[in-house]
Amino acid sequence: MCGITGYIGSKKTYEVLLDGLRRLEYRGYDSSGIAVQVGNSIKFLKRKGKIIELEKSPEIKNMVGTMGISHTRWATHGIPNEINAHPHLDCKKEIALVHNGIIENYHQLKEKLVREGHKFISATDTEVVAHLIEKYYKKNNFESAVVRAIEDIHGSFALAIIHKDSEKLIAARRGSPLIIGVGRNENFIGSDVPAILKFTKKVIYLNDDEIAILSPNNIIVKNLQGKIIRPKVNEIKWSLDQIEKGGFKHFMLKEIFEQPQAISNALSARIINNKIKLDLKINPKNLQRIFLVACGTAWHAGLVGKYIIEKLTRKSVEVDIASEFRYRNPIIGKGDLLIAVSQSGETADTLESIKLAKHQGAKTLGIVNAVGSSIAREVDEVIYLQAGPEIGVASTKAFTCQVICLLLFALYMGEKGGNKIEKIVIKDLQALPKLIKKILSKSKDIQKIAKKYVNAQSSLYLGRGINFPIALEGALKLKEISYIHAEGYPAGEMKHGPIALVDEKLPVIFIANDDHTLEKIISNMEEIKARQGKIITVTNVAAEKIKKVSDDIIGVPKTSEIISALINVVPLQILAYYVADLRGIDMDKPRNLAKSVTVE
Ligand code: GLU
Repeated sequence: MCGITGYIGSKKTYEVLLDGLRRLEYRGYDSSGIAVQVGNSIKFLKRKGKIIELEKSPEIKNMVGTMGISHTRWATHGIPNEINAHPHLDCKKEIALVHNGIIENYHQLKEKLVREGHKFISATDTEVVAHLIEKYYKKNNFESAVVRAIEDIHGSFALAIIHKDSEKLIAARRGSPLIIGVGRNENFIGSDVPAILKFTKKVIYLNDDEIAILSPNNIIVKNLQGKIIRPKVNEIKWSLDQIEKGGFKHFMLKEIFEQPQAISNALSARIINNKIKLDLKINPKNLQRIFLVACGTAWHAGLVGKYIIEKLTRKSVEVDIASEFRYRNPIIGKGDLLIAVSQSGETADTLESIKLAKHQGAKTLGIVNAVGSSIAREVDEVIYLQAGPEIGVASTKAFTCQVICLLLFALYMGEKGGNKIEKIVIKDLQALPKLIKKILSKSKDIQKIAKKYVNAQSSLYLGRGINFPIALEGALKLKEISYIHAEGYPAGEMKHGPIALVDEKLPVIFIANDDHTLEKIISNMEEIKARQGKIITVTNVAAEKIKKVSDDIIGVPKTSEIISALINVVPLQILAYYVADLRGIDMDKPRNLAKSVTVE
């Protein structure tokens, strides 16, 4: 969570820093701040609320100087207000820093520092770091004071730090993402690629317990023992327009509409002559069990993945929410495979689950969008989504591409394991972008349906089999961006509880596919209708029985059962988008949420 930018060079510092912050706003937006070194002093400015509040302040224009740092916050410790906003400073206001992560031992450190005479002004965990550096700082030892401070800290951090007397900008990380942008006579720090893409495509991914010392013409990376490390400079393939709205009202809508292209990219060069080409060493014959771990939307992709992998490989798959997996002493070890799914590749609990599985001897595979991210580097092998940057906080194209990658993996494993691949699945997979385009072309019809339900208080999403996780995902999309309570449930389980919620005000969204569960689903719909619930049906069947019980129907194209999940999720994304839009919510920055959850 939270976005960090840093700059050293001759451009207008506040302009570079604000540009980076705006592009990172999806990571946090409860308050923001900036600090620059001007002459031999530190100037800083903080504001509660979105970045626009910082931009609007007349004082922002004074934030020039040759180096600076900035932050958009997603609070973990201390309410979102101006005092708790970053940057945080030491007592003498000589050191300023921005932080992403959690300092777990801040209580003990703070007590000690207070006893030693340090004056704290915020309720954050972060402020201890500024005072610790102050404690260790003796004339001109900025770098070693930072290292000493880091040695005292437990927890996770990405830090960007300036000192009033130092000509260097320092970055450090442990457990939270941080990149260095390599420029010409200027250098950059960012939490993520969008922060720096306008200025450079060359990046260094900092590793845990490394610090980077930046001047306009030089970047030195060291470990905490002071050993110089020669970092790899990577070339970013994303273009600037990929991280801009391109005429769409919101990133979320743009990303929903990008799905045909994103899916084509995810499939690109991976199906050749009906054979799956994945550059993997995993051999299903040596594999005992498969575990899938993820959080949020990626967990739903994992649930779809379980269905697909078990069907195509006949290997059993366990799916876990990463924060549960890592604390339940899981029975995993040699011969097992852990698949970690994460858009950002930085999800803290997923990353820790990988470390645990590796420690116990399992092999690990990442399904990740962000190239060079922590998860991509931690796992033994990785399949990239190739979906392009996803900025909208509510994940859409990453979800469909995660399922695509899991499907490719299942096909690959099935093939290697000697199972005959049904050619029809490959054919339908290749036809998928076209089918999704058809749904997108009907988005205005879905908007009309959204209008009818915009004032609902609560809603229920029901599906079976491969479409049960799609019901979960549909419900999550609606609740996270419209703030309407929404619950996803297996339709067959409805009578064991959720049916009690049904009355004439409750919209119930059904996914009814032409498969072996259709008759059962239709019975469930009748049961809802008998209790006056409002029924919206996403279906690929033109059956009279469905028409009779549905208040609204969203027709989707037919495809094989295994691909159907990828089709059905799209109208649910569109429905959630329009409901939120009609309620006047900025769904790119939904309340209390942030794009990637890099803290536990
Ligand atoms: N723990 C810090 C705070 O609450 C940093 C949170 C963040 O990553 O935005 O201010």
